[in-house]
Amino acid sequence: MGEKRYLLTPGPTPVPDEIIKAMAQPIIHHRTPQYRDIAKTVNEGLKKIFKTDNNVLTFTSSGTGAMEASVINTLSRGDTAIVVRGGKFGERFTEICTAYGVKAVPIDIEWGRGPEPQAIEEALKKAPNAKALFMQLCETSTATVYDVKSIGNITGKTGAILIVDAISGLGADEFNMDTWGVDIAIGGSQKAFMIPPGLSFTAISKKAWNLVRQSNLPKYYYDFNKYERLMEKSDSPWTPAITLMIGLEKAISMILEEGVDKFVERHKLDAEFVRKTVKDMGLELFSKFPSNAVTAVKVPKDIDTSKLIKSLKSEGVTFAGGQGELKGKIFRIAHMGGIARKDLEHALAKLKEVLKKEDVKL
Ligand SMILES: *Cc1c(COP(=O)(O)O)cnc(C)c1O
Repeated sequence: MGEKRYLLTPGPTPVPDEIIKAMAQPIIHHRTPQYRDIAKTVNEGLKKIFKTDNNVLTFTSSGTGAMEASVINTLSRGDTAIVVRGGKFGERFTEICTAYGVKAVPIDIEWGRGPEPQAIEEALKKAPNAKALFMQLCETSTATVYDVKSIGNITGKTGAILIVDAISGLGADEFNMDTWGVDIAIGGSQKAFMIPPGLSFTAISKKAWNLVRQSNLPKYYYDFNKYERLMEKSDSPWTPAITLMIGLEKAISMILEEGVDKFVERHKLDAEFVRKTVKDMGLELFSKFPSNAVTAVKVPKDIDTSKLIKSLKSEGVTFAGGQGELKGKIFRIAHMGGIARKDLEHALAKLKEVLKKEDVKL
């Protein structure tokens, strides 16, 4: 296998050996009791992680596929939707809405901050016909966790549904779909779920299903109805990504064995450890409300970010740079899923060495 690589990016994340082994088995057919057992276990497990009584539909796509699915299944041409835009992924929801002829009303927030409940209330008042509000749990581009709970309280009193991209936050940041009043919750495989990219997850509330029935945007592959109808038989409309589902079954069993709340708590402790260590080095955090999934660190003025990231990569440590307007200004250290405390300790020690070598005065 060669030297250990430290892949500390907010997706993909390292896949533990037990999961790799589970996925190395010969392929099975999906229209069999054997596969249906796996699909059933996966749905039951995902419900516990999402904290919902709703089914969790699994799509063969990266996370963006489920984001698109949440737009095309709930809205109709000419509808209005409000979108929290505080980073790259908030922008993505705006772009998807626009691509389908949905009027996206952005709530622009300073990158690194979260949406104020008051701003959400005002936006809903100004656009009383808005059918949906889109936001992230963790805005990965700024490493910021959003206050989904307070916003669920607000949308719960209106006709608008709350759609949350929890792709990077789920498993790392506290999340409770049903008690927080989230109507559509979205997850992805290559983050805290510890499996390779290729699966996305979507849970849908009763309130959201009412909109699904009215939606007239074009859809075929991602049609929620087609998936939901077959859930009862633990079947899927198309050939599922069988190997990834086998890996997911293993990952879920590991998460449930640890306990969902304990799993989240471990992420919180690792996040605190990373934040403290970088601050002790004299570095500054970018986010005002840092997520448990990933930490964004401001790059000192006289440092070339791409050079820093390259130097670390040659030491076997991969951090992510900034996206969009944050390119060159931050680097991001993920601490989710299969990333262990000792990996973080190793990577941060390397960071310190590289900064020292570059003679950075902190
Ligand atoms: C990773 C991620 C996505 C999905 O991106 P894909 O490349 O399509 O998997 C969406 N939203 C957030 C917040 C993410 O972190």
